[in-house]
Amino acid sequence: MTDKMQEARTHLTHLSEMFRIVWSAGRTWTLAWAVLLVVQGLLPAATVYLSRLLVDGVVAVLDHGLDETTAQPVITYGILMASSLLLIEVIQSLLTWIRAVQSELVQDHISSLVHQRAIKLDIAHYESPEFHDRLEMAKGDAGSRPIALLESIGTFTQNGITLAALAVMIIPYGAWLPVVLVAGTLPGLFVAMRFSGRFHSWWVSSTSDRRKPQYYDLMLTSSDAAPEMRIFGLGGYFQSGFIGLRKRLRLERINMTRDQSLARFLAGLVALAASEAVVALMVWRALLGMVTLGDLVLIYQAFIRGQGLMRSLLSSVGQIYSNSLFLGSFLEFLQMRSSLSEPANPETLPARLREGLSFNGITFRYPGSPSPTLEGFDLQIPAGKISAIVGPNGAGKSTLVKLICRFYDPESGALELDGVDIRRYPVEELRRHLSVLFQFPVRYQETAARNIAVSNGNSGHERADVEAAAKLAGAHDLIMGLPKGYDSVMGKWFAEGTEVSGGEWQRIALARAFVRKSPIMVLDEPTSMMDSWSEADWFKRFRDLARGRTSIVVTHRFTTAMQADVIFVMDKGKIVESGSHQELVAKVGLYAQSWKAQMEVPYADDLKEASNGAISGGVNGAGEASELDAVDREPGRPYVR
Ligand code: ATP
Repeated sequence: MTDKMQEARTHLTHLSEMFRIVWSAGRTWTLAWAVLLVVQGLLPAATVYLSRLLVDGVVAVLDHGLDETTAQPVITYGILMASSLLLIEVIQSLLTWIRAVQSELVQDHISSLVHQRAIKLDIAHYESPEFHDRLEMAKGDAGSRPIALLESIGTFTQNGITLAALAVMIIPYGAWLPVVLVAGTLPGLFVAMRFSGRFHSWWVSSTSDRRKPQYYDLMLTSSDAAPEMRIFGLGGYFQSGFIGLRKRLRLERINMTRDQSLARFLAGLVALAASEAVVALMVWRALLGMVTLGDLVLIYQAFIRGQGLMRSLLSSVGQIYSNSLFLGSFLEFLQMRSSLSEPANPETLPARLREGLSFNGITFRYPGSPSPTLEGFDLQIPAGKISAIVGPNGAGKSTLVKLICRFYDPESGALELDGVDIRRYPVEELRRHLSVLFQFPVRYQETAARNIAVSNGNSGHERADVEAAAKLAGAHDLIMGLPKGYDSVMGKWFAEGTEVSGGEWQRIALARAFVRKSPIMVLDEPTSMMDSWSEADWFKRFRDLARGRTSIVVTHRFTTAMQADVIFVMDKGKIVESGSHQELVAKVGLYAQSWKAQMEVPYADDLKEASNGAISGGVNGAGEASELDAVDREPGRPYVR
């Protein structure tokens, strides 16, 4: 199959896909649209024909005088002509309305298709710039493209019907007339196709560059970036980046439009010359009495209108072609699939773990990363206990969390849950068995209650369970202090929203993880924003909650880690030590070294007391000082975050 045929096939597939999308967005509307389009296509040809009859009727009146017989046709054709013109207006208005409705329906349908696909894709996709380019194309163009495509197909069909009817009408005056009509507009077709292709290539190749101004815009206008923009005076930097890039993109687009306008003008001259030659010939024939005045009106109208229709037909072809190209990017996005495979014969997940989780010889690298983050990694996490994972920045702790959630699959080795490879469990089922607090939890701009209840999806949780979880997470009092308690809207995005501190948001996120009663609990940095009084108190409550469950706490805080049943020390993608706090302190290793460094800071007495198992809480600085990172710190100097 040649490339051109392949291309044509692709466009046909896009068109049929587009019809499927438009049809499923609103069947009745699509049907009404199609019927009205055909009627609207026939009406202009009918008016041209009626104008001929009317003119001949008027000529008869002029020739034979006004009487009942000569007046009758003029009145009848006049009324018919006026009715058909009125009908054109009515149908035009109806079509405008139907298109507006369809546009809304299709845009919402497309957004829902994009959302459905985006949520199903695995997280690895978010690591690739190509994915973001595709998402940008799908989100940016897809909403409007199907309707634009539908409109251009509609215009094409309507004008095609009118043109075909006009062509049939002028054939009796010369079979070559329709040929001239079509041939005169061929240069226009070439221009339309050529520039649609050129514009699409530019659009695709500039996607990354078009995304960058959005990043600059976000930096300049988002509330998250607002403090740094001001304190570091970054406004000018991002503004000049935005202006520079937009200027280049704008110029490229303007140049393309200029070339297109020039080419269109030249093609238009060819079409004009052809139509003027034909009209001149027909006037000559009328003067010779070879055709009637009515015939001349018909041919003149048919030709002049036909040329206009042909131009619009060609521009519709160009638009259909270009919209189909754009739709291709959107369809490609819809065809993206998660690379995580679902098991053919899924295993059933245990309601409570008996053996635990084990990482067996796992090698894993992030998509596009040259070196693996984990290589031959082994770790046994016992069932029914609280395990802490500690280690310096970049050791690979959060990567373990992501593997447990099956956001990624390892390159080799296996992560087993009660001796079964987690790939043999259905992905959604596995995730339902997990309660996770992520390192950077989401701040839902919804009520405090909903912020906690979302961990059970749409159904939410009972208010009593939400409150119990909030109490365990230390969030209840702060929520009760909000203007409407659990019904207070959180965040400042929407009216009557209330903002709370970073640590308070973290407690609410913790409550969200707690309310989900799943057999495995994974908390990534649960206390990183907590003051040390709250931290000590929190762990006691956490132990009650964790009873019978398998819990993993990733932390930098020794004051948190030391209370776990078993502590794993991770460094450079390996577990380098493990044991209880006392065992690890007794060893001369990374953990003990970090711990000893803490002993040299002020408030060390509090920490010593804590190390004996009785966490008194101490002062805020003590908690901060207990981070593993402290090994790099000058002894004796308080830790500053
Ligand atoms: P921290 O204590 O700072 O949170 P961590 O121990 O949780 O660190 P990870 O987030 O697991 O560390 O990262 C481990 C390594 O993997 C780091 O070297 C990091 O650069 C790399 N890494 C993490 N996320 C990605 C990613 N999405 N793509 C590529 N590399 C990544």
